[in-house]
Amino acid sequence: MASWRENIRQVEPYVPGEQPKAADVIKLNTNENPYGPSPRVRALNLDRNLLRLYPDPTAATLVEKLAEYHHVKPEQVFVGVGSDDVLAMAFLTYFNSEKPILFPDITYSFYDVWAQLYKIPYERPALNHDFRLVKEDYYRENGGIVFPNPNAPTGIYEPLETIEEILRRNPDSIVIIDEAYIDFGGTSALTILDQYENLVVVRTFSKSRSMAGLRIGYAISSPELIAALNNVKYSYNSYTMNLPSIMLGAESIQDEEYFQSTVGKVVATREWFVKALDELGFTCLPSSANFVFATHSCIPAKEIFEAAKKRGIYVRYFDLPRIDHYLRISIGTDEDMRRFVEFLREYIGHASQE
Ligand SMILES: *Cc1c(COP(=O)(O)O)cnc(C)c1O
Repeated sequence: MASWRENIRQVEPYVPGEQPKAADVIKLNTNENPYGPSPRVRALNLDRNLLRLYPDPTAATLVEKLAEYHHVKPEQVFVGVGSDDVLAMAFLTYFNSEKPILFPDITYSFYDVWAQLYKIPYERPALNHDFRLVKEDYYRENGGIVFPNPNAPTGIYEPLETIEEILRRNPDSIVIIDEAYIDFGGTSALTILDQYENLVVVRTFSKSRSMAGLRIGYAISSPELIAALNNVKYSYNSYTMNLPSIMLGAESIQDEEYFQSTVGKVVATREWFVKALDELGFTCLPSSANFVFATHSCIPAKEIFEAAKKRGIYVRYFDLPRIDHYLRISIGTDEDMRRFVEFLREYIGHASQE
């Protein structure tokens, strides 16, 4: 065996949900938003001749709109190619201690992949029996803290007091709150940004803004922490954001009404869908996101997952400890969810006769 093989970085990559090619599937497996981007985004005429130029490396148009929207300075905003890019960059920039970083045992399954990629030591304190974060587990020496709020794939939102308590107990650590789902429920940690210089809040256009295909994510923090993130970015790739993403992202921010109305529709659908699942014998964790995490009293999640897929309905199943009885079901249109409920009613009816 040639020894160059020993020098190849070994990583076990993150596995995203399937993107089936067929057009007629009901796709409830990757937490996309069914309503599509704002009409302003759809109508924007981009001069394609501009594509001959490199985009603005600072993505100023988008950064300024985001700063204005969130009432922060442009120096407090960092944009990247989806929040996955922002988070990967944040791990690389902020987590350089010998001490382990901390994130929950059940959470976004990209965190351990980045930790492994960058050789960052990590520990994963267990969520409690109700899948709630145990804040005391984060009151110990660490090299940084990261978790989503609302959490994924549970959908559970931890109150701001919990976040604040963790921040207060960790003045020597950078704490990243991944707010991919915050628009669907809960108060953002952005409201306490002024008080904690070690807080980084990460957001995405993929879920609430229905623009997963454009790949836009951002971080908001102190000018000092954002400058550090930019230094790493500019040492790596000057042009992470392409021109269409900058322009269309900025356009989306300017349509608050459409944004609010589509988020409202997703939340209303989630509420009736949870009741419908309940009537079918499921238990759902309390969701503040655009998905629900549900377990059935007698039918294994994996069986439902496979049967639904055969019928062209895609949901997400994780074959992982503690959560392998659960399905993560994204909230689609009312019609999508009615069809899924119909499928379940039929399937569960059959399964319980056997
Ligand atoms: C979806 C998701 C992301 C990544 O979203 P992008 O599409 O890369 O912006 C990050 N964190 C969590 C918890 C997510 O669910």
